[in-house]
Amino acid sequence: MRIFATVGLFFSIIVFSQCTPSQNSDQKVTFVNLDPEIEEMLSEVSADSIEKNVYRLADFGTRHTLSETESDTFGIGAARRWIKAEFDRYSQDSNNRLEVEYHRFIQEPDRRIPDSTEIVNVVATLPGSNPADDRIFVVSGHYDSRATDVMDAESEAPGANDDASGTAAIMEMARVMSNYDFSATLVFIALAGEEQGLLGAEQWAEDAADEGKNIAGMFTNDIIGNPDAEAGRLSDPYKVRLFAEGIPPQRELDRQTRRYLQTGGESDMPTRQLARTIKEVSEGYLPAMDVWLIYRLDRYLRGGDHRSFLRRGFPAVRFSEPNEEFKHQHQDIREEDDVQYGDLPEFVDYPYVARVTRVNLAALANLGRSPKPPENVGMNISQLENDTRLRWEAPDTDNLGGFEVLWRETTSPVWQQSEYVGTDTHYTAELKSKDNWIFGVRSVSNDGHVGVPVYPMPFRE
Ligand SMILES: [Zn+2]
Repeated sequence: MRIFATVGLFFSIIVFSQCTPSQNSDQKVTFVNLDPEIEEMLSEVSADSIEKNVYRLADFGTRHTLSETESDTFGIGAARRWIKAEFDRYSQDSNNRLEVEYHRFIQEPDRRIPDSTEIVNVVATLPGSNPADDRIFVVSGHYDSRATDVMDAESEAPGANDDASGTAAIMEMARVMSNYDFSATLVFIALAGEEQGLLGAEQWAEDAADEGKNIAGMFTNDIIGNPDAEAGRLSDPYKVRLFAEGIPPQRELDRQTRRYLQTGGESDMPTRQLARTIKEVSEGYLPAMDVWLIYRLDRYLRGGDHRSFLRRGFPAVRFSEPNEEFKHQHQDIREEDDVQYGDLPEFVDYPYVARVTRVNLAALANLGRSPKPPENVGMNISQLENDTRLRWEAPDTDNLGGFEVLWRETTSPVWQQSEYVGTDTHYTAELKSKDNWIFGVRSVSNDGHVGVPVYPMPFRE
């Protein structure tokens, strides 16, 4: 039996990360086939363009959700009009391929909203080119900012790292990717109201759920501006954290979640499948980068817009820098004992933001070109045996090349081995017992783009 796929276009790379005193030493395993067009997109991501946009966003003084909306130069209204104008410009430059719009709603008084307030997300959609593909992949940053007091809508709050960095990243992706075709639809969103309680994300995700949209994956970029902290004592310039929740903390487990737990699949729900795919694909394209999987929802005492998607059943993850410098987050601009506080653009490392943008782009572009996942993926548990028997059904889509079966030890955070099985819709892993390994099955496009693996649910004949 062939362990690593070597059929036709497909090849595999195994990269072992060097042993360093770094915080993690995950084995890097990737089975991706590199797409020269995605490599071209990666080369078009510009640290200069990101830097210009972060400085421009910081220039609005504050982008607090409750701040001024009439001025053309100050406050959140001016900021969102500028973001929309930039999206419009990218669209013009790409033959009007982006659909740019405001997603607006009135937020009634809430914990951090004293009076009814209009909240406006700025959305650029790149429609998919395959009518049989209803998947939507969302990438976001939040453009609102805050000072020390979360209710202070007047003080300077440049929010360069939190989260002009994420906003500039998604703008740069929209600029570059609007010139290319994808099977699935890609949505780039600058969200508002994050600091006031994830309000913009809540409403967008709620509307998407109500409309029955197939959000196949969401990544938020929040605080991706600088890999160093503690005056350089923490420094990981080629690492980015990717937060991925496991079993959601529901009061009562639904039947589906219970089935994952009953079979030891607690790390194989869609969000962690998505996270592993992002890591594998991005590290395949960008071998210097380390996508550090953190198997939890978020950091302690903090939240992010991915949560609003997760709570509606959509797979969603969060990118953040590996180490945080808290004196440059959520702080009034001031100097104390010769220490500068505040989230100023001079503390952002622009080549680093560009690297994280490329990590996002590689994964998003690959997923956008991947086929829909296999359906009804099942593991035959009718009898005691040392083989593992899997079966599934092909999705209805015209960019399917075949399927790949992946497996790993139950304690491994990432896939360890794979086999490409062509268009077969069944597979037997000989002398590899289902009791000892975790399996997954994913679709691969006819030009080598890998989809998100699906966990096989047990069935009896
Ligand atoms: Zn933030």
